[in-house]
Order: sequence, then structure tokens, then C-alpha cells
Amino acid sequence: MRRPEIDLSACNGCGACIAVSPTVFSFNDLGFIQVADLEFYPEAEVDEAIALCPEDCISWTE
Ligand code: SF4
Repeated sequence: MRRPEIDLSACNGCGACIAVSPTVFSFNDLGFIQVADLEFYPEAEVDEAIALCPEDCISWTE
């Protein structure tokens, strides 16, 4: 199953991915973006987050 992955070393914490897909992306207690453990990821939403991410740090992994 494809799963979104975030390169935290590049993420600037802007929150754009959360605005687009709050079921997938959120801030953890340390203020870093985390990806929810879901059985299925909303592909269109994640693709939009990938397109909007200013640091190009979201990608799909197999
Ligand atoms: S959109 Fe990209 S840079 Fe912004 S918080 Fe999400 S992963 Fe980080």
C-alpha cells in the first residue's frame, strides 16, 4: 500500500498539508508533522498536499 512520507529535515512546519488533508497530516506533541496510520489514504488530498508543499518534502512510499 502506498503511504505518504515526510522528509522532516526539509519540512518548515507551515501546516499547508494539514489544511489540505487533516485526516492524514497533523502536528505531533513535539511540533513536527506526522502521518496518521490509515488503512487507505485519500489519494487526491495527499497529491494536493504534495503539490502545495513549499519544501517538496512529501512523497509517496510503497
Ligand atoms: S506542507 Fe510541507 S513544509 Fe509545510 S508542514 Fe506540510 S510537509 Fe512541512
